[in-house]
Amino acid sequence: MTRQCGDRPIDEGAVLATTNQAVMVCDHCDSVYRKPAFRSGMLARCTRCGGVLERMQRLDVNGMLALTVAGLIAFVLANVYPIVRIEVRGAHGGSTLWGAIIASWQDGIAPIAVLTALTLFFFPLVELLAAAYVLWPLARKRRPPGFGAAMRILRFARDWSMPEVFLLGIFVAMVKLASMARITPGMGLWSFAALTGLITLVASFDHSHLWDIATENQDMRANQA
Ligand SMILES: [Zn+2]
Repeated sequence: MTRQCGDRPIDEGAVLATTNQAVMVCDHCDSVYRKPAFRSGMLARCTRCGGVLERMQRLDVNGMLALTVAGLIAFVLANVYPIVRIEVRGAHGGSTLWGAIIASWQDGIAPIAVLTALTLFFFPLVELLAAAYVLWPLARKRRPPGFGAAMRILRFARDWSMPEVFLLGIFVAMVKLASMARITPGMGLWSFAALTGLITLVASFDHSHLWDIATENQDMRANQA
């Protein structure tokens, strides 16, 4: 369901000067709108450029937290178990993600090793931990300390975690090596596939919705005090 917001964008200066009513800003053309009443699954589009302003999350905070925790479990499994098992003329072995990163480093391709460690290990972990840090208190009707900084870290890590690129690379490598060796997918590969799906869902969380919940929680606490 799509909702067109207002007849035309409102003047940002006027809004900020006269009211503390929630506003939405178009990421594409900087138009400012007063926030309409949303229902689950609704989509708001900019009337000036057609860009998506806000998509009302179908999941509640507990649902988002459950997906994030599932992502962390998949992350641990993907890093502990071997990605593939390779068998060549009776000799066989396997490698975990970190085994491959260390082997790349020792083979003298340090830039690849560093890039792999950052995009497949560091940023996905930071993204999942930042999401859990934000969602856990929100689910308990609280606003976490340093909420703004955590949201900025979440947004930055989201742009740099790329497990799907690795998954694609592994499948291409498996096809290419199939004629030379017997390759069996390991538990780590299936966990990586699950992690890719879960991290895509975590990346799709509507950040402005999380800001709204944090503000509501803060206002509610202030009223109770
Ligand atoms: Zn726009």
